Amino acid sequence: MLSNREISRLFSLYAELLLLHQKDERLAALLSGASYRLRNINENVVGLNKEALLKLFRPEITKIINGLKTTSSIEALDELIQLTPQGLFEMMRIKGLGGKKLALLWKTAAIDSIDALLKACKNNEVANIKGFGTKTQDNIIKAIENYHSNENRFHYASVADIANSLVDKLQKIFKTKLISLCGEVRRKNTTVACIEIITTVSSKDLNNSAVHKLVIIQTSQKQQTKAHTLEEIPVTIYHTTAELFYYDLFIRTGNENHVKKIRNRITINDCYTSEEAIYKSADVPYILPEMREDAAEWNFKKGNDKLVCTEDIKGVVHNHTRWSDGIDSLNDFVNACKKLKYEYVVISDHSKNAHYAGGLKEEKVLKQMHEIDKLNKKLAPFKIFKSIECDILVSGELDYSNELLKQFDLVITSVHQLLKMNETKASARLIKAIENPYTTILGHMTGRQLLIRPGYPVDYKKVIDACAANNVVIEVNANPYRLDMDWSNIPYALDKGVMISINPDAHSIAEISNIRWGVAAARKGGLTKDMTWNAMPLKAIKQWLKNKKFS
Ligand SMILES: [Zn+2]
Ligand SMILES: [Zn+2]
Repeated sequence: MLSNREISRLFSLYAELLLLHQKDERLAALLSGASYRLRNINENVVGLNKEALLKLFRPEITKIINGLKTTSSIEALDELIQLTPQGLFEMMRIKGLGGKKLALLWKTAAIDSIDALLKACKNNEVANIKGFGTKTQDNIIKAIENYHSNENRFHYASVADIANSLVDKLQKIFKTKLISLCGEVRRKNTTVACIEIITTVSSKDLNNSAVHKLVIIQTSQKQQTKAHTLEEIPVTIYHTTAELFYYDLFIRTGNENHVKKIRNRITINDCYTSEEAIYKSADVPYILPEMREDAAEWNFKKGNDKLVCTEDIKGVVHNHTRWSDGIDSLNDFVNACKKLKYEYVVISDHSKNAHYAGGLKEEKVLKQMHEIDKLNKKLAPFKIFKSIECDILVSGELDYSNELLKQFDLVITSVHQLLKMNETKASARLIKAIENPYTTILGHMTGRQLLIRPGYPVDYKKVIDACAANNVVIEVNANPYRLDMDWSNIPYALDKGVMISINPDAHSIAEISNIRWGVAAARKGGLTKDMTWNAMPLKAIKQWLKNKKFS
C-alpha cells in the first residue's frame, strides 16, 4: 500500500508533467493542491472509502486515489514519464523551474538537461526566450549552482528513522550491540550525505541474505562496505575489531577538529571500553555525539547533562490553522495538543500581508480571538494563547498597528516576502521589528530552506544583541526544512541570556511532531532546558508574559 507521502510525490510529479507536456492545466492544479494536502493527513488515504475521500478531495482526485487501491502506479502518469527525456526530470529539481517554464525551455529552445540549460544561460540565450528575461536567467544560474552544491544531500529528518531502524535490524541479525551509527547522522546534522555505520561484523559476514533484504551492497572490502538503502540513501559500513570498537566509534563520530583536539590528549589506538572512558582519559567532560562539531571552548566547559529533550517541551508554539494556511480547524488542532499532554498552545496564523497564505485582515483576527476565548473556557486548565505570525515589512515595521498587536497574548514576527537583501538591510529590518515593544518571539531568523535556498545574510550577533536588549525570544523553527535560527548561533544567544523557543511551525496536527527535529538541532548548539522558553510550564509562561508586558 502506498503511503500518503509516496502518493503526494506521485501527484506532484504528475502535475509537473501535465504542465510540461501542455496537457490538462486544471487537473495539474488539482493535483498539486492534493499533493500538498496529503502531506498533512494522518490516516493512509488508500485505506479510506469513497465517501471519506470525497470529503477530502475533488472527484477527479478521489478517482485517482481509488485506482491506487489495486495498483501502485497511475497509468496516465506512466505514459507521460515515457514521453519525457531523462534530463528534464533533473531540471525539475532546479528551484523556480515549474512545468510551464520547463515546457518553454524544452519546446522552444530544445534545452533538455541541466548542463545545456547552464550553457544557454551563460550564452545569454535564455534571457531572449519569451517570458524569461535577464533577471530570471540570473536566478536560474544561481539556482543551478545551489543545486550542484546540495546534490546528494538529504534532510536529517528523511534519513534518521531509516538509519536507526537499519542499525536495530543489523543488531538483531548479528546478535551484537557492537553496531552503531557514526558520522553526520549520529551527530544529527541538519542535512547529511549518507548513513555511516561502524561494526565488528566483518565484511564477509555482512554478505548474508537477511542483510540483502535491507541494503543493496555495491562494494565490499575488508575495512569498508559501500551500499545503499532501498530508499536510495547511500550507506558506508566501517569494519573494526571488538578491542578498537569504541575508539573507532569516537574517531568516526566527531568532526575533524573535535576529534583532533581530543586525540591530542589521549593514548591513540588504546583499547577503551566506552566513549566516556576516552573523554575521561582526555580529562574533558563527556560530550554527547550531537555536540562533537568542533572544539569550541563552550563545548568543553558547559558539560551537557542539562540539554533540552523532547519531553521537556510543555507548549506547542507557532501554529497555523484553517484560519490562514493550516490544514486543521482551530478546534481540532488545540484538542490534539491537549490530548498529546501539552499544557498550552500558541495559535499564530498569518497576518494580512501574507495574502498568499490566507493572512488575516484585522476584523478576522478579532473574530478568531473571540473563538479562542470560547475554547479556553471549555478546555481549562489547558490554555490557548492568542498570537499571530506577524509579517515584518520591508521597512521593519510590523503588519498591524500597535493598537491591534497589544491585544494578543504574544506576537511572533517573521520575514516572508522580499527576501533578497544584503546583510546590512536584512539585519536592520530584523532589529527594527525586534525593537517593537509587542514583539515576543523572532520567527525563522534567516528565511532559509535547507537544500532549497540559503537564507538572506544576517549579522546574527547584532540581531541577538537586539533580542537581548529588548527581551525578545528567538525561535528555532523545527520544520526540518528550516531549523532556523541555525544551531551554531545558539551558544552566542545563551551567552547573552537570550531564551530560545523550539517551534514546530505546524500547518497540521501531524506537524506538531516537528518539535523532535527542532530539539535535535537545538541540542547541537548546547541549548539547556532552563533556557528553552517553551520548556517552561504554563504558570511560568504566564508570569513571563506578564513581566514582559510591564518591562
Ligand atoms: Zn513563517
Ligand atoms: Zn509559520
